[in-house]
Amino acid sequence: MALVTISGYPSSGKSRRAEQIRASLQKYLSDETYPGPIRKVAVLSDDVLNLSRSSYDDSRSEKPARGALFAAMQRQMSPDTILIVDALNYIKGFRYQMYCAAREAKLRVCTIYIVATQEQCREWNMTRQDGRAYAPETLENLMFRYEEPSSMVRWDSPLFTVLWDEEVPPMPQIWDAISKGTVKPPTRPLFRPPKRQQTRSKPSSRRQPPSCLPSWPTRLGLAGN
Ligand code: ADP
Ligand code: MG
Repeated sequence: MALVTISGYPSSGKSRRAEQIRASLQKYLSDETYPGPIRKVAVLSDDVLNLSRSSYDDSRSEKPARGALFAAMQRQMSPDTILIVDALNYIKGFRYQMYCAAREAKLRVCTIYIVATQEQCREWNMTRQDGRAYAPETLENLMFRYEEPSSMVRWDSPLFTVLWDEEVPPMPQIWDAISKGTVKPPTRPLFRPPKRQQTRSKPSSRRQPPSCLPSWPTRLGLAGN
């Protein structure tokens, strides 16, 4: 019933927060006053999919890794599940693509932006004990290319920002977004019949914002940068 997209620099604490959020949401679901329909929380991450950090070393290996994450996300989206996607999700076009998929599946959405300074991420990356550190050059490259989420765009909204020193994420607000937020219909049908009478294309100044058609995000998210 909901897609929770986590985004943040590499080694910024995303998985740590994802676990906090998962545990907290589990409690909301277990509350006997909650009537449903959501029944479970699932976390999807590079680690769950056994995708190595070295996938991010170059765009040729990153592209199939992102594709695998997206395919797994689509498989796991379901009306009775809160799916937390704990990954870098640093490309705007990729987040947009996830948003479109969620709308197609009639899910609520929210984005959680995990904020830590670059200096902290370098330090945490260097000292992490789980064998999941990024190569220093990859870390710098990913931080450089990171596209910050914005509450001004619909695919990142509602957006919750969690700073590195906050004890807990804003769970009541996140729960509201997941359990009561608007379920938006897909903006347009996935496949439109060709317009027979169309003689001219619109002037570019009158172009519509990108729709959730499959071609647009494919150009952005999964096709590399
Ligand atoms: P990510 O999923 O973003 O790569 P993790 O949650 O796995 O990051 O955390 C990476 C490392 O940084 C871990 O060793 C973790 O203990 C440490 N860390 C993350 N957030 C904090 C924090 N707020 N305070 C102290 N250490 C942290
Ligand atoms: Mg992680």
